[in-house]
Amino acid sequence: MPVPRLSELLGQPQVSAFLSGVVAGGRVANAYLFHGPAGVGKGTAALAFARALLCEHRSGAGAAADACGECPACTKSADLQHPDLKFLFPVSGEARELDDAVAETLAAWREDPFFVFSYEKAASIRLSLTRELLRELAYKPFESSRRVIVVRDADRMREDQCSAMLKSIEEPGVSSVWVLTTARPSRLPATIRSRCQAVRFQPLPEALVADFLEQRAGVSRRDARMLAAISGGSLARALALREADPVALRDQALGLVEPALRGDAAGLWKAVQSLGRSRPGRETLRRLLEFQELWLRDLLRARYGAAREDLVHRDREEQIRRQAEGVTATEIRRRLMVLEEALRAIEGNVTADLALFSAMTRAAEPDLEEAGWPGHATARWDY
Ligand SMILES: [Zn+2]
Repeated sequence: MPVPRLSELLGQPQVSAFLSGVVAGGRVANAYLFHGPAGVGKGTAALAFARALLCEHRSGAGAAADACGECPACTKSADLQHPDLKFLFPVSGEARELDDAVAETLAAWREDPFFVFSYEKAASIRLSLTRELLRELAYKPFESSRRVIVVRDADRMREDQCSAMLKSIEEPGVSSVWVLTTARPSRLPATIRSRCQAVRFQPLPEALVADFLEQRAGVSRRDARMLAAISGGSLARALALREADPVALRDQALGLVEPALRGDAAGLWKAVQSLGRSRPGRETLRRLLEFQELWLRDLLRARYGAAREDLVHRDREEQIRRQAEGVTATEIRRRLMVLEEALRAIEGNVTADLALFSAMTRAAEPDLEEAGWPGHATARWDY
């Protein structure tokens, strides 16, 4: 992927403005921590920032706030080939295959404009690669006045790597800028966090994700809307799902929603059994639940009088309006919360209060007062 410039970053206006300010002002910290949800552009922003810092036209009076895009340094960094641009990211595999694994990832990254980093669960930032990099940092940068080191998913570093990195960050007179990215900043040692300038990224607006999918990834308008709506503002997640057939997933989810809405226990049991026979994995279950939520959110929108263009499933408007008439908003929200609890259970971090509350609301009268519902359960249902 040709690395964009800071001015071309998608949907993070505050981040773009802040980083441009750093570049223009020339007061560059030794380390930055880009944190925020997965798939919202932290890695891309790190590269754009690095590119601006390495650009040959940015020093001197009236320096620009962005990479020029044309000098030899910009050409090299756009291709991830600048000798003073270094990377660390999680890899899995045997020690002797590490170099190949890294080269492969870099090649894929370079060539695929929609490259989405994904690793095995056990992948980590390898100690041998970190050591190699730290040794190199003892020497002067090759071409630029500084080196930029981008560490993706820095939370996958081990304690000893963190200490080694810390030493390097704190060394006086260093000409290195570290840019760490993470979706899980709490997993980084406090010593690292406190030495980095934190830069916070937000989930991307749904409309932006939908437009990107439609205009740049060739997804149909209808599918783009659906994928954007379940992406949670993560472009990477929407891109990862674009191979899936959202309409098929929706129809599968509807096979569960409809008997549930009718109160047809036998029908629901049959649907669940038939689903179980295909032994769905965790990711499939997650999608099914998310598509059920998506449908219920449309019912909620319909109950509140949303116009056709505000419905994600506007191709099924009539069905949505009909179903919405037969169920109260409170009841829809209660069902959404049950789904939310199931999603959290699948992710393995369901909170005790949410699990208990959800179980109790299911046992209690359906139209329990919603004013007392836990905020973290309902936060995602803006409509
Ligand atoms: Zn340049």
